Amino acid sequence: MHRGHLPAEMIVGERRMESVVVDFRQDEAGDWIMRLACGHERHVRHDPPWTVREWVLTPEGRAAWIGRSMPCPACVAGAD
Ligand SMILES: [Zn+2]
Repeated sequence: MHRGHLPAEMIVGERRMESVVVDFRQDEAGDWIMRLACGHERHVRHDPPWTVREWVLTPEGRAAWIGRSMPCPACVAGAD
């Protein structure tokens, strides 16, 4: 119900510094990690604008981010 409308064309996209949020997971410490369409992941809490927010703690909050464009630091750095 929460992720049934993920538009495939946004996942494919062009390779840029912008990626798309496709999923979330938690690491061993319980911190939330965004999984991006480019294959990279980023902790929600590691960037100053992204300090832990209540939205990430709820399924509804996380679902609201799936499919959104996100700058990917790893892509910016040229990692592949
Ligand atoms: Zn990336």
